[in-house]
Amino acid sequence: MKRLRVRWRLTLWYGAVLMLLVVSFGSAIYAMTRQNLMSRVDTYVIEELREFSVELDLHEGGDETLADFLDERFFDHGEYDFQVQSMDGKVLFASTRLVNHPLAANPRLSYKKVVLDTRLLPGHGYRRVGVVRYQGPTGEFILQSGTSLQNEFAQLQSLATILISVGLLTVAIALVGGYLLAGKALSPVGDMANSARRITAANISDRLEVTNPNDELGHLAMTLNSMIDRLQDVIEETRRFTADAAHELRTPLAVMQTEAEVALRNERSLEEYREVVQVNLNATKRLARMADQLLQLSRLDVARGKSAYDEIRLDALVSDVVETLRPLADQKHVSLRVESIRPCLILGDDIQLSRVFYNVIENAIKYTPDGGSVIVDASCNEHRVSVRVTDSGQGIPASSIPKIFDRFYRADQSRSRSTDANGGSGLGLAIAKSIVDAHHGKISVSSKQGNGTSVEIEFPVAA
Ligand code: ATP
Ligand code: MG
Repeated sequence: MKRLRVRWRLTLWYGAVLMLLVVSFGSAIYAMTRQNLMSRVDTYVIEELREFSVELDLHEGGDETLADFLDERFFDHGEYDFQVQSMDGKVLFASTRLVNHPLAANPRLSYKKVVLDTRLLPGHGYRRVGVVRYQGPTGEFILQSGTSLQNEFAQLQSLATILISVGLLTVAIALVGGYLLAGKALSPVGDMANSARRITAANISDRLEVTNPNDELGHLAMTLNSMIDRLQDVIEETRRFTADAAHELRTPLAVMQTEAEVALRNERSLEEYREVVQVNLNATKRLARMADQLLQLSRLDVARGKSAYDEIRLDALVSDVVETLRPLADQKHVSLRVESIRPCLILGDDIQLSRVFYNVIENAIKYTPDGGSVIVDASCNEHRVSVRVTDSGQGIPASSIPKIFDRFYRADQSRSRSTDANGGSGLGLAIAKSIVDAHHGKISVSSKQGNGTSVEIEFPVAA
């Protein structure tokens, strides 16, 4: 079923609640008035019966029959009707309106209490009738007295008409008012939707207007604005990343193109061709490595928070990575040592974690001159395990440290743009940080330029 618009829903709820109030209030007034009218009629009927029985006490039998005795006084008694029956139900006297329609005796008879009920008397409408058992000097009888309810019913009917029409009018006015008010209260939502619809990637710096920061709609606008803030960050980050990636890819491609064009311009010696192919091979290696790193980063972005982790022996994993990188260290005459590493378990993805330590230890070797040293050590307590990679290399300028984990950032710009196949693209630490973050860990760098660098990576221990 199609849901009604909020404006209509609010209005209908409002109308329904008001209708309930009006109906209860009206019914209470009606019931009270009816009760008052009836009890007044009942008092008169009881009084008439009392007077009737007092009169009856005066009849002492003798020559005058009961019917004759009563005919004189009660046959036509204004609004009131009277009837006398013997205990076996025989009608002994009935006043004018009852002659042709005697009242049946109410079976709930009592001597003391007048029993009252409402009956329909053919041709005379509804009547209130009281009945009582009577013991007089001439015997025991059933006495009944009744009177018309026409007046009371007419009064109740006009009261009902007034209550229903006033009630309907109130509800109708309330519905119209409620509809207008709901529209007014909800109009900022419509404005907000229109403003939100206008915000696209092209004008992502626009924000929704916050008219009153303290009400619910103000909160909604502020929440949407902070969501747009986050989207803006992501969009700007993506734009920056795309621009940087294009820029990084362009350099080796330009080198390859220039080398090839220059080589083709004249006839070259074999040695010269060999050199061109070597330069192009280096540029190709660099491109391939960058493509691989970009792919890793985008996979990490997609898989964020979705990977299922296993228990990993971190000490064994670090030792494996160190052994993989030992040939590079040997080649650079850098001493690579693992110190004090104890068995410790963490939850993680072993391929991704290997990549973290590979990137960090590779940096330490790469940025440490010949004859330097790289030391890897790990410590763990019951909550956290921390691995530190310390080198004796060139260090990182203090101004570069906050940007070191940014994508494509290199502290030493001069070497990296070279076509040297080992020249980094500035993605290694960005990848490492993404992986460490996904493992709820922490990676930090401390360094003094010219005095070596220390990278510390922490993870929570598997429970
Ligand atoms: P890639 O790792 O993508 O091949 P890269 O090594 O240049 O390239 P990162 O690993 O992200 O990129 O490192 C970023 C920059 O931080 C490096 O270019 C380098 O200038 C600096 N850096 C990182 N580690 C060290 C270190 N141990 N000593 C000195 N500088 C470092
Ligand atoms: Mg690196």
